[in-house]
Amino acid sequence: MEEILIVENIKKEYGRKGSKYEALKGISFKVYKGEFVGIMGSSGAGKSTLLNIISTIDLPSLGNVYIENKNIIKMKQNKLADFRRDNLGFVFQDSNLLDTLTIKENIMLPLSLKNEKVSVIESRIKEVSKSLNIESVLDKYPNEVSGGQKQRGAVCRAIVTKPSLILADEPTGALDSKSARDLLNSLVKLNKDNDSTILMVTHDAISASFCSRILFIKDGIIFTELIKGESTKEFYNKILNTVSLIGGVNKNEFI
Ligand code: ADP
Ligand code: MG
Repeated sequence: MEEILIVENIKKEYGRKGSKYEALKGISFKVYKGEFVGIMGSSGAGKSTLLNIISTIDLPSLGNVYIENKNIIKMKQNKLADFRRDNLGFVFQDSNLLDTLTIKENIMLPLSLKNEKVSVIESRIKEVSKSLNIESVLDKYPNEVSGGQKQRGAVCRAIVTKPSLILADEPTGALDSKSARDLLNSLVKLNKDNDSTILMVTHDAISASFCSRILFIKDGIIFTELIKGESTKEFYNKILNTVSLIGGVNKNEFI
């Protein structure tokens, strides 16, 4: 199996001498091509810190991260922007679409920045908007469409360049349950049909049950992992059990 992402002994300290706080205490894992991996953990566990490091937005105190066999921690700043643009797709909790551009213009932005040919841009937009089911709102502005459509537009923008890794931080966090389910089904479809590799942070067990594997972070380390081998329902129940274990609600923890 092809390794898309290798995270090697990542540590992250915040603060100065005397008041140091270690948010990540040595995290290592790999993500293979075509996986849909979830990262779960209670609030403050270090999920966003980890995702920001993998996103090349933040640097670790120690450790290395390889994406497509390139060590992004050692990469020069001037190369990072290109690397990000060519290899990574981002989806955040809020769609971050630009209000002054239509949904279509928002989606094409990454390709326009790459000076891609108009014909290529048009055909990619057709492809991604069809797979995310937002063809009918392409000419509308973000404030004229629903939250779910905005977020599906954001996914289109993230995948339009065919990135090798899609990074999502709580992508369904601001959506109602129906829109959330639609978005997750779209991510699963992308994952299955296009062999897209997705790493998604979520604190929600239902969202996580759409993943093929879940890493649980607790107090800055990987506590355990779950692999989806059975039905979504059984997987969901296992996730709930693990969440209650790491969430501190398990009474045994205090004995
Ligand atoms: P999560 O996304 O799992 O809720 P975060 O990664 O945002 O957690 O935060 C992990 C821990 O690191 C928290 O205790 C948080 O307060 C701390 N932290 C995050 N960012 C900073 C920062 N810029 N400066 C200091 N502490 C931070
Ligand atoms: Mg977070």
